[in-house]
Amino acid sequence: MNTKHDLLDKAFQTNHLTKEEITVLLETITPEEREILYSKALKTKQAYYGDKVYLRGLIEFSNICRQDCLYCGIRASNAKVERYRLTPGEILACCDKGYELGYRTFVLQSGEDLWYTDEMLSALVHEIKRRYYPEVAVTLSIGERSVETYQSLFVSGADRFLMRHETASQELYEKLHPTMRFEDRRACLAALKKIGYQVGAGFMVGLPGQTPADLAEDLHYLKELHPDMIGIGPFIPHSQTPLGTEKGGTIENTLVMVALARLLIPDSHIPATTALGTLHPQGREMALQAGANVVMPIITPSTVRKQYALYENKICGDDHPEDCRYCIERRIQSVGLKVDLGKGDSLQFISNM
Ligand code: SAM
Repeated sequence: MNTKHDLLDKAFQTNHLTKEEITVLLETITPEEREILYSKALKTKQAYYGDKVYLRGLIEFSNICRQDCLYCGIRASNAKVERYRLTPGEILACCDKGYELGYRTFVLQSGEDLWYTDEMLSALVHEIKRRYYPEVAVTLSIGERSVETYQSLFVSGADRFLMRHETASQELYEKLHPTMRFEDRRACLAALKKIGYQVGAGFMVGLPGQTPADLAEDLHYLKELHPDMIGIGPFIPHSQTPLGTEKGGTIENTLVMVALARLLIPDSHIPATTALGTLHPQGREMALQAGANVVMPIITPSTVRKQYALYENKICGDDHPEDCRYCIERRIQSVGLKVDLGKGDSLQFISNM
């Protein structure tokens, strides 16, 4: 029987652990072993991405959503949210501001809002790419659409697509997503990859009913999918949702999953998520010291920011884009790392070019 120290060494040396080994680690890891895990993940990140941390400017352009995910504050059934939509002109103004602040990747994220037709989104992506050509990458995070739509947005110039798989447990997925199908989410991710996008997948930690074996399954699914980016954040309850009184994910468990993802899928980008920053004032810095290498500062206009409340007490609600830009830079420097304002393609993408 391997000791946990052996397992951590194995993950570091071979980038592989069986599901059973991951489950044992998650069930029994001690604070001292967590520190060893974080330092191995940091070493791995340094070997692949050095001391650079890539910044992506995040524009949350609509909080209108046709889906009804049980955990999410902007779910369709939440009648208490004040809804908003930014026009294409307003989104472009955010990009101009973001460009001025040095960002060279724009992440356009929203609820699943079909008011934005394929034609509107294609024209928008095309204009962003034209305006800052050839410096800027466009990432979309707009949820499930048809393969034809994904294809046409790619042709219009979109480079990347983020869509978390949320959980690799089919049973849990189905409980949490009454309006969605497990197979559809996975089919979307496979299609996006096939089209040629740099793809981001990922999951939440601490979902009600989620087990260590489910989390091991998440890591194995990701290893198989081999996405360019892996978003891992704690589940944070929102009082206006059916899961409002549940317990949320912990900082420790989330950091352990970030570190294990770095060891098992070493060449992926891994963001230090806003949700981690919400759970703990230094949550993002802790993630950067446990293998994360990307931060996504918010450039959504301050007039609507607070309305994009996926969970409560989300940080930066009163801030302006320039506040976030420099606050993040200071945080990155405080842990001895450096901001990189380049496009920041993934190593997998660069090696396939
Ligand atoms: N609609 C797009 C999609 O489904 O990919 C993008 C927006 S969606 C709101 C962004 C992510 O927020 C989800 O993938 C989910 O993991 C996360 N999220 C939603 N509610 C959350 C909560 N209560 N706690 C933590 N993360 C949450």
